[in-house]
Amino acid sequence: MRFAAASPEPESLICRSVQVEDGVATLLVESGRQTAHCPSCGEPSRRVHSRYVRNLKDLSWHGLQVRLVWRSRKLFCRNAGCQQRVFTERLPKVAQPHARQTTRSEEALRAIAMACGGLPGARPANRLGMATSGDSLLRLLRRAGHKKPACPQVLGVDDIAFRKRATYGTILCDLVRRRPIHLLPERSKESLSAWLSKHSGVKIISRDRGEYYRQGASEGAPHALQVADRWHLLCNLREALVRWLGRCSREWPMD
Ligand SMILES: [Zn+2]
Repeated sequence: MRFAAASPEPESLICRSVQVEDGVATLLVESGRQTAHCPSCGEPSRRVHSRYVRNLKDLSWHGLQVRLVWRSRKLFCRNAGCQQRVFTERLPKVAQPHARQTTRSEEALRAIAMACGGLPGARPANRLGMATSGDSLLRLLRRAGHKKPACPQVLGVDDIAFRKRATYGTILCDLVRRRPIHLLPERSKESLSAWLSKHSGVKIISRDRGEYYRQGASEGAPHALQVADRWHLLCNLREALVRWLGRCSREWPMD
């Protein structure tokens, strides 16, 4: 396998040379595309303003650390109405603007960080030839951010024990997407009502039959339909059956 074919975007990057030294493979690459598009207005341009070099860490290859030295271009925007006179060419599959590693290397390290955390993740990453530190992995996680979940239309409400028989909170689930979306620190009508009043799109609330949840749902989302959730209904049915069978066994003749 040739190094050139292992580059992040072989159809767009031309590999000019490969140098292997001290366990590091350095690939000198250039964009093979004549035209680049202005990120502000989308106008294509071939008129080169200047060139500059980007150094990017990439995925390791057969035990070698890999570095891309990308001789990138700055181009003039030809659109007279565009405020951006000069722009840098972009290949998002290769690297994000200002990134110091390739997009695929960043994704691999982020996956390690999500599974292992910062410092514990740095050890396997370094052993795999992706030089990094615990702090760098934590920065990757923070940059990934947290997408605010959309307001659910069907909301599941139940209590959750932070410490069994001592401290309880409330777990809210999006029952259409089948995922938990929020934890309330307490089990009270006030906290549920306050959350619902800020999320006005809830149409159905499937809830625990605790009185505090009934009141909280009625106050926070008066137009939502409240239903008993299936788990609690089945739980109640099982308990009723056990009681009934216990009574029957006492009344049934033994012979
Ligand atoms: Zn432009």
